[in-house]
Amino acid sequence: MAILPPMRPESLFPLFADISTLKGVGPRVAPLVEKLAGPIVRDVLFTPPQSLIRRTATTAALAQDGQVQTFVVTIDAHLPPQRSGQPWRIRGWDETGFVTLVWFKGHGPHLERQHPVGTRRAVSGKVERFGSEIQVAHPDYMLEAERIDEIPPIEPVYPATAGLPSRTFRKFALEALSRAQDLPEWQDSAWMAREGLPPWREAFERLHGPEGEIDLSPMSAARRRLAYDELLAHQLALAQRKAGKRAQPGPRIASGPLAEAAEKALPFRLTGAQVRALSEVRGDLARGERMSRLLQGDVGSGKTVVAMLAMADAAGAGFQSALMAPTEILARQHYETLAPPLEAQGLAVVLLTGRDKGAARAAKLQKLADGSAAVAVGTHALFQDDVAFQNLALTIIDEQHRFGVNERRRLQEKGEGVHLLAMSATPIPRTLELTVFGDLDVSRIDEKPPGRTPVATRAAPTPRVPEIVDRLRAAIEGGAQAFWICPLVSESEKVDLRAAEDRAADLRKMLGPRVGLVHGQMPAAEKDAVMQAFVDGEVGVLVATTVVEVGVNVPNASIMVIEHADRFGLAQLHQLRGRVGRGMRESSCVLLYDPPLSEVAQQRLDILRRSDDGFEIAEKDLELRGGGDPLGLKQSGFPAYRLADPVAHRDLIAVAADDARLILARDPALTSPRGEAVRTLQALFDWKPASGLNDAG
Ligand code: ADP
Ligand code: MG
Repeated sequence: MAILPPMRPESLFPLFADISTLKGVGPRVAPLVEKLAGPIVRDVLFTPPQSLIRRTATTAALAQDGQVQTFVVTIDAHLPPQRSGQPWRIRGWDETGFVTLVWFKGHGPHLERQHPVGTRRAVSGKVERFGSEIQVAHPDYMLEAERIDEIPPIEPVYPATAGLPSRTFRKFALEALSRAQDLPEWQDSAWMAREGLPPWREAFERLHGPEGEIDLSPMSAARRRLAYDELLAHQLALAQRKAGKRAQPGPRIASGPLAEAAEKALPFRLTGAQVRALSEVRGDLARGERMSRLLQGDVGSGKTVVAMLAMADAAGAGFQSALMAPTEILARQHYETLAPPLEAQGLAVVLLTGRDKGAARAAKLQKLADGSAAVAVGTHALFQDDVAFQNLALTIIDEQHRFGVNERRRLQEKGEGVHLLAMSATPIPRTLELTVFGDLDVSRIDEKPPGRTPVATRAAPTPRVPEIVDRLRAAIEGGAQAFWICPLVSESEKVDLRAAEDRAADLRKMLGPRVGLVHGQMPAAEKDAVMQAFVDGEVGVLVATTVVEVGVNVPNASIMVIEHADRFGLAQLHQLRGRVGRGMRESSCVLLYDPPLSEVAQQRLDILRRSDDGFEIAEKDLELRGGGDPLGLKQSGFPAYRLADPVAHRDLIAVAADDARLILARDPALTSPRGEAVRTLQALFDWKPASGLNDAG
């Protein structure tokens, strides 16, 4: 199936016009509108108000401090400032008393001309009451009394940008709305009726003309309608991309005796989840179409061995494969894991990192270029221009979110129709998976290898650090190793770095010299050296900013201390905790927090204490936090929705995905009347997902 680039129908032209075509958007204002909304009229239409102001009509006697209210007053006197710095004031009255209007930077004479003594004015603004005195500073409205109807009783408030008041933006929004035409309905009418959803244009009228707080809620019918439109447009784009990729040919790789022998030689048996994931990968590889698959699995779930066996399959079929990891130490660990079983099958494995120089590097490149090495493991060094493969057929990207789209692509382009297997340890709840990875096939390893001792997890207030250090000393003396995480919490990296350095110095005082420090600002080589010393057991306690998050395996490490645990996403804490509990020792994790702990923080830490399942934790975290970006998804390639809230509207995501599949299955070229309407929807949102994995392959 070909991907149809949605042609923009004429009905959308007004919405795709430049914002400068809106009345009042001149060269000074345009950049502000663009910053807030975007470059075209549609973007203004798509910018929802954040809150609303209710203006109640009142009198001087009944005015309430702090409320936004409307009065009708007769101008009684202008009171010019007596000294510089004083405001210009106008005294007005109604039947119940006086109201003073105040301008700190006003043009007195202008005000005097506009509102002469004796005229009646409708005035609206925020009331300040000082005893019996009522004051309104810089009224929002001041009109002839007859025009009081022009003061809206409910006024939506748009996100503010300096120099662009909400009320100005509102004018643009209303004009944008007036440019929106009725469009043919793309949603299923029966479904709309069942859900009580309004037509598209009506939904926008409600969005920009809320009649109450309920209309601002993501749960309102209008918001759900618009959210669904956006989700459907996105799911359609993803489904088309997925179909488009499927249609690309890829080398046909059948599983054979080589991989079978490699698997037999493993010191353990694959878990059920590994077997399942591997057979999904093999199904893809054998199909003759290019694979785009994500292998999701908690830290320690055993993704590497699945990758290794897929590489063995490729080698058995006469192809090369490459595994890329984000750091040198990880690449080396992978090499140490992968090389022995593969070499035992007679395959040559090359490790290529930034450390390789000169003749040694040239020799490695030669082996990749002439095909004598079947497998390459490495870092960014793998996709450099002078690296060539004889017949690369499979790339595996570990910790995929740590690579840019182009980096992954550069490696993939070193062969023809190269299969992609991306690996991720960020547990993403099933509901959200569809929005992040909708154009990939996903395999999950949702089971841990047997024999893992669960990590005993507890929370402790920071003042109890000395006690914890005492226990740590005993453990270290007994041969254990510990991570001590000082995560980045402040806006300033310098401040955070100092906190980590101070902690390391403290621990050295109390525990002796076997305390190491790694942080993000260290040169890579230095960082690797400290990490290596930790892996080798020379360092007993490794103080680190979050750099250890990436999957380094130190089986002897059994203690994890995390400072400021209350400020972190559960998924992230869970990943950090996954660094321990890999060996024979009883493992523990201490979550340090600054008391007092809020109730939600308490609940969150409780979840972590009770559960060891990354997916379950992520799902709970989502429920507890609601809204925003609770799982730090943005960095995982999460789409920037304008109208949909992936948490509040998560029930709609799966429906939209099903709907998209159904629409395309029935009418792949979108030529039916509904298909045409759907194309308008696509053109309206114009999804060009360009982030994260969506562009890989
Ligand atoms: P991750 O999914 O975090 O990348 P790894 O692939 O590094 O996990 O595996 C973690 C550890 O589990 C490794 O030491 C690996 O040898 C071991 N392992 C993997 N699969 C199994 C299994 N089926 N049974 C026992 N141990 C396993
Ligand atoms: Mg790993």
